[in-house]
Amino acid sequence: MAGRNFLFVPGPTNIPDRIQRAMLVASEDHRSSRFPELTRSLFPGLMRLFGCAEGQAFIFPTTGTGAWEAALVNTLSPGDKVLAPRFGQFSHLWIDMMQRLGLEVEVLECEWGEGAPEARIEQALRADTGQRIRGVMIVHNETATGVTSDLAAVRRAMDEARHPALLYADAVSSVGCIDFRMSEWGVDLAVTGSQKGLMLPAGLGLVCASPKALEAASRAQCRRAFFDFADMRRTNGEGYFPYTPSLPLLYGLRESLAMLFAEGLENVFARHQRLAAGVREAVGAWGFGVCARRPRWYSDTVTAVMVPNGVDGARVVDLAFRRYNLALGAGLAKVAGRVFRIGHLGDLNELMLLGALAGAEMALADAGAPMELGSGVGAAQHYWRVNASAPARARADAVAAE
Ligand code: PLP
Repeated sequence: MAGRNFLFVPGPTNIPDRIQRAMLVASEDHRSSRFPELTRSLFPGLMRLFGCAEGQAFIFPTTGTGAWEAALVNTLSPGDKVLAPRFGQFSHLWIDMMQRLGLEVEVLECEWGEGAPEARIEQALRADTGQRIRGVMIVHNETATGVTSDLAAVRRAMDEARHPALLYADAVSSVGCIDFRMSEWGVDLAVTGSQKGLMLPAGLGLVCASPKALEAASRAQCRRAFFDFADMRRTNGEGYFPYTPSLPLLYGLRESLAMLFAEGLENVFARHQRLAAGVREAVGAWGFGVCARRPRWYSDTVTAVMVPNGVDGARVVDLAFRRYNLALGAGLAKVAGRVFRIGHLGDLNELMLLGALAGAEMALADAGAPMELGSGVGAAQHYWRVNASAPARARADAVAAE
């Protein structure tokens, strides 16, 4: 098809030209005396991105799933008990991994569309009088349902219960898009992948560990080899990796961090907030709901749109792709067919999203959904005009003053 594919899945996200260019590099010796200049430049940026004042960042050649595994096997021992709410496909998969690694998981079952249940977490921790629970595992942004949990509130619940468990956060679809404050919220292990907020291809799994997590790593007995923090710490300290790193991805990561900091993390978060709010205006104008059950859980990176009875969300996604070259996210597992997802994260602006909303409207109409063409686009346009970004306002004021 002529023209660009409109990529609006909630990851992988669009790769900016600047990052593509930065990754176009010839191979080089990753054991050269100059190589540490590149490596060492990355870690402070990652710490800043995660809001981590103390501790250590790790860069593994893997995906978000590998980063989960690295966080678990480095800090826990077989048979250790952990507490994990399940409210979507990614929290489900993480729990499945924990069980396969031989951990005992106390699962807090929640409705899909809900976020982390702070009060139930506090209750479960209080009930754990022997303090067997070693970790509380939270998917910060559940990409399957478009739900963001309140990690600060989870930390408060843990503190109220006076429980020493570590707090683990899956920040795969939040870091670099949604405010994330690892140290302030007392998160001990946070993980992400390269293909979402960092606007890179998949292939890097990033883990940030607090001093308490690093201390736990010295005692943890889970088997590990490729993902061992100790090997990474030994070699990273000198600016190297224990195995061959993916050079293009590392150069891309350096560029991505530079872009995020040049925009300013606060501005990046505000942009995602504004884009997400416009998308929800559109969904409201179509007359549909979102999967997130309460506004406090609305995600700034992904909206899971509930399709009306009689309409198949998977068909909407397929029609959008085949007829209009628009990639939307399908509903996963429990919500398959009942939702489709619009990813609004990464290198995006209002007009790009208006294209996606227009395409989604056409696909919805083609799939027989009762809604008016243009209604969502109009609502989003209105919202984004009234709530222009601060830089856009400044530009408009400058033009008016000329
Ligand atoms: N966690 C969340 C919240 C995700 O959205 C994803 C992927 O979409 C993953 C984990 C798994 O990451 P990956 O596919 O990079 O292994």
